[in-house]
Amino acid sequence: SISHEINRCSYFHHATPTFSNSRTFIMESSLKSLNLDGQFNFKDIHHAAGDFGNRYHFLPVAILYPKTVSDISSTIKHVFNMGPASELTIAARGHGHSLQGQAQAHRGIVINMESLRGKKMHVHTGELPYIDVSGGELWINILHETLKYGFAPKSWTDYLHLTVGGTLSHAGISGQAFRHGPQIDNVYELEVVTGKGEVFVCSEKQNADLFYGVLGGLGQFGIITRAKISLEPAPRKAKWIRVLYSDFYSFTKDQEHLIALEDTVDYIEGFVIINKTGFINNWRSSFNPRDPHQASQFISDGRTLYCLEMAKYFDLEDTDAMNKMDNLLSKLDCIQQTYFLSEVSYVDFLDRVHLSEKKLREKGLWDVPHPWLNLLVPRRSINDFAEEVFGKILTDNNNGPILIYPVNQLRWNNKTSLITPKEDVFYLILDFCGRTHLGVKQYLPHYGTREGWRAHFGTKWEDFARRKSTYDPLAILAPGQRIFQKAV
Ligand code: FAD
Repeated sequence: SISHEINRCSYFHHATPTFSNSRTFIMESSLKSLNLDGQFNFKDIHHAAGDFGNRYHFLPVAILYPKTVSDISSTIKHVFNMGPASELTIAARGHGHSLQGQAQAHRGIVINMESLRGKKMHVHTGELPYIDVSGGELWINILHETLKYGFAPKSWTDYLHLTVGGTLSHAGISGQAFRHGPQIDNVYELEVVTGKGEVFVCSEKQNADLFYGVLGGLGQFGIITRAKISLEPAPRKAKWIRVLYSDFYSFTKDQEHLIALEDTVDYIEGFVIINKTGFINNWRSSFNPRDPHQASQFISDGRTLYCLEMAKYFDLEDTDAMNKMDNLLSKLDCIQQTYFLSEVSYVDFLDRVHLSEKKLREKGLWDVPHPWLNLLVPRRSINDFAEEVFGKILTDNNNGPILIYPVNQLRWNNKTSLITPKEDVFYLILDFCGRTHLGVKQYLPHYGTREGWRAHFGTKWEDFARRKSTYDPLAILAPGQRIFQKAV
């Protein structure tokens, strides 16, 4: 039986194993006795107690480097057969870019999913093109592989050095999601190893309960070992545009207008600029002002501004499409003198955050702690939210970006485990630190109590808990999400 308790261990210091030597020895020997293609490492384990958030550190007892799906299945079966008396839990680790220890397993086994990606990726062209990849594959590699065939996935995250299993366990949201839905809505089929070690192929038509449960399921019901991801013909280039607004109402009105149009730009995001001067000068290294003279007259003087960021994809110079876009953008209610434009390859556009990563790494600023908050805010609350938060609670954003953009849920599949506000249009706000009382839902959720999780899932909680008892009855998987605790 599952205990729905939250694991309340201290999150802020290195937790060290307290196993007695003999127990550790027995556990190690029993894992070593498994007949695997890959291997366990019991010594070099410290990196698995870290992640991008760099705030939570739980030491595992072993890391499994699987070579085959059967390695994962055998390991889970072995732990499952130990029964509830064993403390061992198992966390799949994708690229370890979680923020609060979600891919860690305190005194458990971490499965290094990237070592499974040795298998070749297969691109299938045809009426419904797709790529068949390992759950440990990085999205950046998928981009490069599919481009060889003239295709690319439709929906992305802002940063591509994340794994398929890691983003499909949450949603995978970026500026294309208003049109295509998040990444979890662009998957045809999954192969999943459940918490009992059984291997299932699942899709909309086959084992659908598991398929939809796993998509957005926070790793709770199984480990994704393979995925078929839908593709579209890839463009070669992107026109990347930024314009500024001085009032929030016009900014969101235009964002919502753009996502509602059929013939619109291909990517829509936005960000907030609080109390900064001279930032436009930083843009000039990669963006050109449409009217340099007018742009040079613009003074930001530290007020709160909102930047609408868009991209239009294209192949060869298509004058007609570009005229249409110019026409569309000339009607925006923005400060027209702040129209900045850049033309980059499609790959450079999608991999843009990696460029920032390189710069931050050079300055030693990439591996710092990252306290993040990601929120899905219903449209009805967004103005109240902005009024309260931007400029009042938050008086600057010098320590990180505040992204904000609307998505239209009407085009999203509501059968997945992802929890969103009950409204057609809602806003994704990333990287904002503060507090709100507006009934918003967290994305990449993190709660400290059982009540918090229940409230998050709302009416979907019973279904979520039922799937847990069906697919991972001993609560072995993804302990770092701290939703269910293994009953020992
Ligand atoms: P990990 O951190 O390794 O794992 C995350 C969770 O998924 C853990 O619970 C783990 O156990 C589980 N898991 C991992 N692999 C599997 C698998 N194969 N099967 C089942 N469960 C698995 N998200 C967005 O949606 N949009 C963005 O634009 C975006 N931008 C980001 C930018 C940066 C710089 C960073 C660091 C993160 C960003 N994220 C974004 C969040 C990111 O999508 C999640 O943190 C994601 O989980 C990280 O993927 P990962 O491969 O590192 O997963």
